[in-house]
Amino acid sequence: MVSEQFGSGLETAEYQPERWEEAIDRFRHLPERSERCWACYYLRLEETARRAAELDIGRFTTTLPVSPHKVYSRVVEAGQRAAGIHGVEFHAEDFKKKNGFKISVERSRELGITRQNYCGCYLSRREADERRKKI
Ligand code: SF4
Repeated sequence: MVSEQFGSGLETAEYQPERWEEAIDRFRHLPERSERCWACYYLRLEETARRAAELDIGRFTTTLPVSPHKVYSRVVEAGQRAAGIHGVEFHAEDFKKKNGFKISVERSRELGITRQNYCGCYLSRREADERRKKI
């Protein structure tokens, strides 16, 4: 496990796909990098902010910006909104800068981490499959 390799603890949230379905429902017809994803970013970051506050951790961040497929300004907006609601601070940093994405790929390889070739939801998987079919 990666957290063990870094000597840190690991907190996981309950898997609640119905919350995601509800959050993106109005936008499910839209592609990746649209309102569908803005709602998804917020859902995840709101849960992270809530848990940070519960654990008395004053500051949190996300690895989302390391992906070139994510819209950094929208991640920051969602993080700051979530932080404000729970009285914690959001650390905004664009991890893809300074070759961050390339470094993340190399580090994943070194640590034996599997990288999936779609974002995470079944809609993004379908979109990725369609893109590959066209190539
Ligand atoms: S999992 Fe990824 S592609 Fe799917 S809604 Fe969330 S951010 Fe968008």
